[in-house]
Amino acid sequence: MRRTIQTMFLFAFLFVFFNRVASQPPLVVNLSDAKKAIKEYYLSGQYSLELDTIIADAIRQLNSLQIGKNSAFVFDVDETALSNFEYEMKYDFGYIKSEWDKWVETEKAVPIRQVKAFYDTLVSRGIKIIFITGRSQSQYQATFNNLKKAGYGTFDTLICRGSNEANLTAREFKSLKRKELTEKGYKIIGSIGDQWSDLEGGYTILKVKIPNYMYKVE
Ligand SMILES: [Mg+2]
Repeated sequence: MRRTIQTMFLFAFLFVFFNRVASQPPLVVNLSDAKKAIKEYYLSGQYSLELDTIIADAIRQLNSLQIGKNSAFVFDVDETALSNFEYEMKYDFGYIKSEWDKWVETEKAVPIRQVKAFYDTLVSRGIKIIFITGRSQSQYQATFNNLKKAGYGTFDTLICRGSNEANLTAREFKSLKRKELTEKGYKIIGSIGDQWSDLEGGYTILKVKIPNYMYKVE
């Protein structure tokens, strides 16, 4: 009898539990709604406000570091130094390699204001600037020109991804380049990027992560 009551309780519990689970709405959002929310975030000024806070905090952290003659700061390019929002809007957040390559060649990406201001602060303090980008070596000249047009007038080095590095993940490629720079004598006091793969893997003191709600690179 006791066993029967226990079994009945178990079935009742399972019935309630599965009914509750089945009645939960799925944890996904409608793609059109998500895109609309992301556009709104960028266009309404929320992105700009979030950047203001992050960069102000980065400058505070910078003030606590010792700066030497080999001190360097590493910048990512896309969605860090340069904004490709125009491209993202044109293709509704879609990535089409041939169109992306054409966009890079236009050299029309604009600077992200707060990142450019951060760059100016670093330059004024005598810190060397190094760009490390996942863009390919064949895009070196267009990237170099675009950075100059966007106001990044002085920098030490621009490093693109070589054809022999195509199989590395972004994280592996970027940390390898920081390791090589460190071995050459640079003291990398910080890195700034819109992806965690720009920052993780060592060989940097500060890690300044800025937002990117449009895509992820690992
Ligand atoms: Mg980036």
